[in-house]
Amino acid sequence: MKNLLNYFALFAVSAAVLLATGCQSPHHRCCAMTGCGNSPVPVSAVSTQASQAAMTPQLALAELQAGNARFVAGKPLVRDFPTQVQATAAGQYPFAVVLSCLDSRQPIEIVLDQGVGDIFSARVAGNVEFACKASGAKLIAVIGHSNCGAIKGAVDGVQLGNLTGLLARIQPAMDAVPPGVQPRTSKNYAFVNQVAEANVRLVMQQIRERSPILRAMLDSGQIGLVGGMYDLATGKVQFYEK
Ligand SMILES: [Zn+2]
Repeated sequence: MKNLLNYFALFAVSAAVLLATGCQSPHHRCCAMTGCGNSPVPVSAVSTQASQAAMTPQLALAELQAGNARFVAGKPLVRDFPTQVQATAAGQYPFAVVLSCLDSRQPIEIVLDQGVGDIFSARVAGNVEFACKASGAKLIAVIGHSNCGAIKGAVDGVQLGNLTGLLARIQPAMDAVPPGVQPRTSKNYAFVNQVAEANVRLVMQQIRERSPILRAMLDSGQIGLVGGMYDLATGKVQFYEK
C-alpha cells in the first residue's frame, strides 16, 4: 500500500511538472527536452506500463522524430543510465520496435535519442510480433540507411557463405528499382540508395503479409508501421509519409 501511495505521489508530481511546462505528450521525456523544462537534471524516468498505454502509433512516431531531431542538433537528452538500468531490471514497456541494419554507423538508440527500455531494437524481423503483441510496442519502424554495405554487396553479387542467403533476400529490392536507373553497380550511389529504400518498403510489406497478428493490429490502428531512411552523412532519419 505504501508503495502504491509512493507511486501515486510520484505520478502527481510528474503530472504537475507536465502541466507546469505545458507539455502535451503523455510520454515522460517531454519535460526533459530542451526548451520545454530547461531541467539540468539527467533523465532517470523510463517507459512504464502507464506511459506505454498512453502512447498511440502517432505519438510514438512523433517521439522518434523528436529524438532524431535532438540527435541531429547535437542536443540529446542527458540520461542517468545507471538509474534507468535499475528501473527497467524487473520489466520493460518499450513504445516502439525499430528494425534497422547492423551497420556500426547507425546505432539506433543513439540516432533516435532513446534511453534504456524505450525501444526494441531488431536487426531481423523475427521478434517483431513478440514486441507488439506480447510487449505492447505501438509502432514498428523499419529504418534503412544510405551507402549500405550489405546492399552494395548484394548489388555486386558478392558470394560469401552465409551472407549469400541475406543477399538473395535483397534481390527483390534490386528488381523493384526501375530498369532506367543505371548503372546497377555499387559505385552508383543513387542506385544503392534506391535499392535500400525498396528493401525497406518490401520489409514493411512482408511484415503485413506474413503475420496475421500484426496485420490485424495494424488494421485496427492498435499499432502503426512506418518506413524511413537514415542518412549516414547528415544523421537525419527521413520517415516516409506512406
Ligand atoms: Zn547497412
